Amino acid sequence: MKPEIVVAPRLYEPVLAALDARFGVHRLWEAQESLTFLAPLAERIRGFASFTGYRVGAELIAALPKLEIIATMSVGTDHIDLAAARARGIRVTNAPDVLTDCVADTGMALVLATARRLVVADRYVRSGAWVIGGFPLAAKVGGATMGIVGLGRIGKAVAKRAAGFDMRIVYHGRTRQSGVAYPFFDDLKAMARETDYLVLTCPGGAATRHLINAAVIDALGPEGVLINIARGSVVDEKALVRALATKRLGGAGLDVYADEPRVPAPLLAMENVVLLPHLASATHATRAAMGQLMVDNLAAHFAGEPPLTPVA
Ligand code: NDP
Repeated sequence: MKPEIVVAPRLYEPVLAALDARFGVHRLWEAQESLTFLAPLAERIRGFASFTGYRVGAELIAALPKLEIIATMSVGTDHIDLAAARARGIRVTNAPDVLTDCVADTGMALVLATARRLVVADRYVRSGAWVIGGFPLAAKVGGATMGIVGLGRIGKAVAKRAAGFDMRIVYHGRTRQSGVAYPFFDDLKAMARETDYLVLTCPGGAATRHLINAAVIDALGPEGVLINIARGSVVDEKALVRALATKRLGGAGLDVYADEPRVPAPLLAMENVVLLPHLASATHATRAAMGQLMVDNLAAHFAGEPPLTPVA
């Protein structure tokens, strides 16, 4: 008998195929109403295969009395009610490391796209405007300062890329890291004042909610650019939109938003903003590796072995 699991949201097809091969899969994303769908299965479901974009909240966890493990193919776990899982002794696993390079690539791409106005320039050529006149000059990234908020696996990979572009790197986090030569700022506003590109690579969730508020945005200032490849919840989006609209902030490169897939309407009309649809890890190779790690975590658990990447 294969262990029975629920899956939500809809995952990359090869990952679903790998899950189907090993487990009895119930497709929760197809349900009209989650709790009604789960009620007849409640006594059989032992695992949950999850991903960002679908909240595994306390109510859902309570509806699955035999749940043993929630495995997500993301590194972030802010879509899972960890306290509710912990209270029941339910194991949680995530998918660190395998997505670091692609997410960092996206961060660096947003730095270059905002600095050199590449997306606007592309539209400029397509519109025929080049024939009428040259494209305005833009900003140089070499020599500029990148301030990284959350110098973890992804933050360090962004720093490595930025160093290759001769950027100066500084960082903020809850603690100064031993063995890291980049200047550390315990005061985020003070770092923002010294920063040209403020890159967010910290976790989402309650602890970092609106860490980037109006005061930090003002410290970044009219020449500064905010790059968010972390989570939408980290930024006070209303304050961001106001600062961009009133030119108190120079620009933004965003992969994530407070209420995905909804993007604040004023941003859509702004030329100093590059907007991506939460794609930082979205390559075939990386999504396959993320999915495989999730499958391996579930398989290890159901074989009675410790999971590969448990969340503390
Ligand atoms: P890590 O745990 O390796 O790094 C997180 C870093 O954030 C640590 O250096 C930590 O340092 C810092 N941090 C934690 N809490 C705070 C805080 N309250 N204030 C400031 N800094 C803090 O995680 P990863 O680098 O692997 O991933 C980081 C995040 O990136 C994920 O949690 C996820 O939300 C996001 N992500 C986004 C993706 C996308 O598609 N856009 C894809 C993948 C990840 P310290 O403990 O010293 O504070």
